[in-house]
Formats: sequence, structure tokens, C-alpha cells
Amino acid sequence: MALKQSRGIVYLVGAGPGDPGLLTVRGEDLLGRADVVVYDYLANPELLSYCAAAEKIYVGKKAAEHSMGQEQINQLLVDLAKQNKRVVRLKGGDPFVFGRGGEEAEALVAAKIPFEVVPGITAAIAAPAYAGIPVTHRDFNSSFTLITGHEKEEEYKDAASRAREQAEGSSDLDWSVIAKLPCVAFYMGVKSLPRICAKLIENGKSPDTPAATIQWGTRTRQRTCVATLKDLPEKVIEQKISAPAITIVGKVVTMRESINWFETRPLFGQTIVVTRTRQQASELSVKLQELGANVIEAPTIELQAPSDWQKIDDALGISVAATPASPLGKKGDAGSPPMSTWDPAATKQLQWDWVIFTSANGVRYTRDRLRAVGRDVRVFGDAKIAAIGDATAAAIQKELSLHVDLCPESFVAEALANALAERGQIAGKRFLLLRADIARTILREKLQVGGAAEVRDVAIYETKSATALPQVLLDALAENRINWITFTSSSTAKNFVSLLGGDYREKLKHIKLASIGPITTTTLRELGLEPATEAEVFNIDGLIAAISKPVE
Ligand code: SAH
Repeated sequence: MALKQSRGIVYLVGAGPGDPGLLTVRGEDLLGRADVVVYDYLANPELLSYCAAAEKIYVGKKAAEHSMGQEQINQLLVDLAKQNKRVVRLKGGDPFVFGRGGEEAEALVAAKIPFEVVPGITAAIAAPAYAGIPVTHRDFNSSFTLITGHEKEEEYKDAASRAREQAEGSSDLDWSVIAKLPCVAFYMGVKSLPRICAKLIENGKSPDTPAATIQWGTRTRQRTCVATLKDLPEKVIEQKISAPAITIVGKVVTMRESINWFETRPLFGQTIVVTRTRQQASELSVKLQELGANVIEAPTIELQAPSDWQKIDDALGISVAATPASPLGKKGDAGSPPMSTWDPAATKQLQWDWVIFTSANGVRYTRDRLRAVGRDVRVFGDAKIAAIGDATAAAIQKELSLHVDLCPESFVAEALANALAERGQIAGKRFLLLRADIARTILREKLQVGGAAEVRDVAIYETKSATALPQVLLDALAENRINWITFTSSSTAKNFVSLLGGDYREKLKHIKLASIGPITTTTLRELGLEPATEAEVFNIDGLIAAISKPVE
């Protein structure tokens, strides 16, 4: 009987403690190539973006009704591998630190399934680190011990673990030994904290020993309660700290006073909504997160390629008829560049004096169009290039490798018109504006009034409103958890309120609004909303600076 070659394999991957940046490079690579990902409650779901194409199976202990026992999880891993799948078993922290990864590995060995283990950063190291507590320090301790809370919290307890506890006796902790250790981290110990602290004190540990409990360590929702051993249980209840949390007991806890770096970042603990398009959100989101904010992305606008390329092609002097068998004009499909499409006879070089881009998206859609028809920036001939906004200018340099001749310091259309006027560059000149379909008409008007010989204003991409706001945003709104909403354009402001519904002013009553500049502010005011802050420099960094500044 010929045995079929199996490619089924299981990777036990540590997801790290929560901050998605703390996944290992190996973990990310394996997620990207997985057929199926079996993940836990403690593995940050954001990591699933690395495995968009994979099947995802949630086996978290918090899935109230369908909570899967360890035996079932073991069997699931075996079954999936037997179906020739590349399986990533994604577990919070490190798979072998109180993660029952050892049991899963045993099951795989028994079933003769190949497997690999990818360690992760465990909570007892990472959560204190993010709370400003180094787990060892030469002055305080030369050992550091990881202990699991004696009584497992209900949410992590399944029938199998209860049976095991009954069979083996649940206490294998010798408190007389533990009380002598200089630095100890307790996993799964929030509910049993009163007992842990009492046992330590009973066994000779000083009641004044510094101790801290850190909830959701390394995430933007991290909270830390610092106390002494005798006060900790009460303070943890007072501060409503619950699982998942790590408790660390030892003198190193005092170091937090000087090295508490994470929770002191300017926007730590603030929940901030980003209303930009998905394509544009990440720069703002990442920068806000780096300052400590918890970001909710609620795109109010979606971008799409123009439904008709004719005007654009005419303006760029592209003759599409001369470009055979390419995915031309297809919505949102830039396609791969067709070869040999250059037909000088069919191509007329249009001599623009100025080509103006008003957004990075406009630059990218232009690049994609040129590629799709097998052309390049030579369609611009000798035209000078202008940009509104430094992000637009950066995109022109990066995506088109073109030098930007003019980018006024103030990032609005009026400033560009003024800058051109000052240089005597409007009268008699020919302008091509490559912009969004909803762009303001002021630039065109100013150029026309200034005596331009021609102003060709074409929409290089189209925008459409999102149809709904994401559930995470609606939940946060209902629970009063939002501190700021950022608006980076008039259209995002208008769309956001229309998606919120008629009572939007009531819903936004207690939330601070941040505007990227005067045009957006005017729109907000027209909507009856007063921004708490407006950027001084009308770009993303300016907006972030405005939010980080204390509001008077
Ligand atoms: N394998 C995991 C631990 C799983 S046991 C690891 O190596 O980290 C689950 C316990 O881990 C929780 O009860 C809590 O005590 C701790 N834990 C996991 N993630 C945590 C986090 N982000 N912050 C604080 N504690 C965490």
C-alpha cells in the first residue's frame, strides 16, 4: 500500500503578550503561509491580518457556549494536519509557559504529526516591561520565578483541567519556599490574589514588599495597580483590575517610579477615532498608537478608480486605442504593464506648463494608470510639478520619481494659487489638475481668474461614502469610551455625521473633535460641531500635535 506524502504540519506559535509588534518574525512568516490558524482568547486578533487567506478557528476559553476542551483542541490540530493542512496554533505569550503547549505537542507526537515550536514573549516579562518594571536588577534580585496562580480562574478552567486537579491535588506550591524568593510573577492569579498575598505574608514575606498587578499588559488598554503586598488585593478590587493580569512581587516594582515609559506617553489611554479612508488611515493610526492611543479606524470614504478613463487619458496624451489586450479601463484594476504599446503616431504630447497633484492618492492613481497603459512620467513632458501638502509631495517623489517644483508651506489650494501668482506663473499658462472627484473648485477658479490659458481639471480617482460605521466604533460610542474623533477633510466630517444619523450632535456631545485645518473646521461648524482643536500645520503631524497638546 503506497503511503501518500503528507504536507500536514502544526506550528505551535507564541503570539506574544498582546502588542502586535511583539510577534516574532518567524511567527509572522508562518501565519502568512498557514492554511488554517487555530487561535486563543489571549492571542491578539489583530495578528490575524497576517493570515488573511487562512481559515481561522477560535478555540478561546471565553467562547462561552462553545468553549473547547484541551482534548478537543489536541484532536482538532491532529485532524487538520491529517487533512494535509499547514496549521498554525497561535497561543498568547509563549506556547510552553502555562499555555498547555506541551500537551498539544505530546498529542502531535502521539499522532506522528510533524510540528515545530515558535517561542513567544511571555506575559511575565513583557507586561512588567511595559509597566516600567525590569524583572531583574542587580541591586534587587538574581532570580525571577514564574508561578501560576494556585486556583485557576473559572474562565481558563475546563473540565479536563478540573479532573486533573482532582486527580493530582491542586496544590503543588510550597509557600515557605516561594515566600523566600526575591521576585515572583503570578499568572492567572487575579481572583486568588487575596490568598496569594496572605500566603506570602504568612510564610514570612514582608507585608511592605512592593507589588504590582498589570492587566492587558503591552496593549493600549494596559492598566497597572501598584501597592504593597498587604494592600494589593484591596487596591486591585478598587481599581477594578481583572483578568488577564500578571502580578509581580519584588523590589524591582519600585523602579517603575523612574522608568514607567509606556503609560506616560502623551496619548496613553486615549481612544481616538480615525475617519480617513482605509488606504490613508495607517499613517495617522500608527503615529497615534506610538503615542499611546487606542485607535479605532472608521473609514467614512472609500476610493475607487474612475469609471471612465477617457478624460484622464486625453489629458495625459495617452492613446488607449494603441495599447492592445490590456486590462484598460477596468475599474480598480491597474493591471500589469502591457509591453510594446508605444505608438508615437497615436500619441500626441500635450504640453502642460504645470501638473498639480492635491493628494497622495491622486499620485498613486496616476502612477497606476500610467503603468496600466505601459507609459511613464514622460507624458508630462517639460511640465513643472506642484503639490498641495508635504505627503503629496513625498508621494510624487516616491511613486513617480519626479522632482516637485512647488509645494507651498500652507497645505491648502489657496496657498498654491497664491504661490503661483507670486511667481507670475498663472497668466497664459496651461494647467493640468489631477484630483479627487470631490475636490474643491477653488484652485481651478483662482487659476482661471488669474488668466490661465487652460485649466484642465480631471478626477483621477473617485470617492464614495462608506455605507456603515464599524461595530467597534458604535460599541465604543455607546459605552462612552471615545476621547477624540479626528477629521482630515470636509468630506470625512460630512460622511461621518451622516452615518451617525440625525442625533449626531447628541452622540458627539462629550467627545473632543480634532480638525486638520480651517476648511475642515468650517465644515464642522456648518454641521453645528465645534472642534476642540485645529492643527496649526495642516497635515497629519500637525493634527497629532494639536491632539497631544493639552486642551485649555
Ligand atoms: N502562555 C501565556 C500565558 C497563558 S496563561 C504567556 O506566556 O504569557 C494566561 C495568563 O497569562 C493570564 O491569566 C494572565 O495572568 C497572563 N497574561 C497573558 N497575557 C497577558 C497580558 N497581556 N497582560 C497580563 N497578563 C497576561
